[in-house]
Amino acid sequence: MAGIYIHIPFCRCKCHYCNFFSVASRKHKPAFLHALKKEIELTRDYLAGQPVHTVYFGGGTPSLYTPGELQEILGSLATLHPLSSALRPPYPLTLLLKEKGKSSAQRPASPPEITMEINPDDVTEAFVAGLRNTWFNRLSIGVQSFFEEDLKWLNRSHSAVQAIKAIKRLQEAGYTNISIDLIYGIPTLTDDHWEQNLEQAVSLKIPHISTYSLTVEPHTALDILINKGKLEKISEEGSIRHFKRMQYLREAGYLHYEISNFSLPGSESKHNSNYWKGEHYLGLGPSAHSFNGVSRQWNVASLNEYIAKTSAGESCFEMEQLTPDQRYNEYVMTSLRTMWGCDSQKIMDDFGYTVYGFFKNSALPFIEKELLREDKGIYYLTDEGQLFTDQVSSELFMV
Ligand code: SF4
Repeated sequence: MAGIYIHIPFCRCKCHYCNFFSVASRKHKPAFLHALKKEIELTRDYLAGQPVHTVYFGGGTPSLYTPGELQEILGSLATLHPLSSALRPPYPLTLLLKEKGKSSAQRPASPPEITMEINPDDVTEAFVAGLRNTWFNRLSIGVQSFFEEDLKWLNRSHSAVQAIKAIKRLQEAGYTNISIDLIYGIPTLTDDHWEQNLEQAVSLKIPHISTYSLTVEPHTALDILINKGKLEKISEEGSIRHFKRMQYLREAGYLHYEISNFSLPGSESKHNSNYWKGEHYLGLGPSAHSFNGVSRQWNVASLNEYIAKTSAGESCFEMEQLTPDQRYNEYVMTSLRTMWGCDSQKIMDDFGYTVYGFFKNSALPFIEKELLREDKGIYYLTDEGQLFTDQVSSELFMV
């Protein structure tokens, strides 16, 4: 189940906390589109013919392009890459909606998942009308908070009112497969407001909710403003309290299927789940990463260099071959974050008896401290252990 990720590197303004590669100027949008189409051609053999079941447009802000331009990109992908037959044209949303009434036997066995990250201020009536003529069938909305003071603190370009309007407008247009992002641990976000954010998401019938702990990444505006004393420091205790309050989502019927992701049953992100399960993916656009099972590569994080090199038919990525230790570390780190857990039999099969023994011995102290639990050879983080995910995983790494 391979996937394709497309990184659209433009934003309206830079959010204070952001360390994704994006630029706040939009003047290179046409040149980027041209370069991206060239990269789609250049990478046509990367996935070695594996059928592609998911496509994800992230960024940056993909919704700064028109639906027609985004559909053009999907059209180029469908011509040059082995998209699953379910993804092949014609498969617009209008067709999906028509098929709602059909029996499951008449619908495609494995529905495609084509996601676009979208910012609330881009969800105009005209945008939604255009979207209905594209193949996007899952929308991930960057809400972050339903309170204005938090959005201001984060330097988001939209308001809380716009976020609610955007969700309702998309739902009225027939989009049910919606995800929203929320951020906790913001100094302006009280415990009550965090709970109200979660309640608002549930009452809006959002089937997928991603929740991220606010972190201060080096060299971001947030880092600089905090160091200058212009913004309040982030409290770790506050973030832990917010994390614990997400129990509310479980009580409301959501699966906590990955440390930062909750979904109603059946609404998990197929694209991201495939990352966590070690499936192969191709990343296009500046700073995008690709993985084919044996090596990882990442495109240059520079828009000018990406456009110049890719347009000239040259590649602009660095690559590393993954050692068995690196692949083991990655498996432990990603699998422990999910509800599917870390399978010790897989460690034995893929990495051998010595690594299996190392894993079991290293896990033992965490089982005694009740940060890990084991069931039929599968290891899971306990609720308490989830507060120390990185520390536990790194103690299980081969160095
Ligand atoms: S919209 Fe997203 S990618 Fe753009 S600056 Fe804000 S957080 Fe970063």
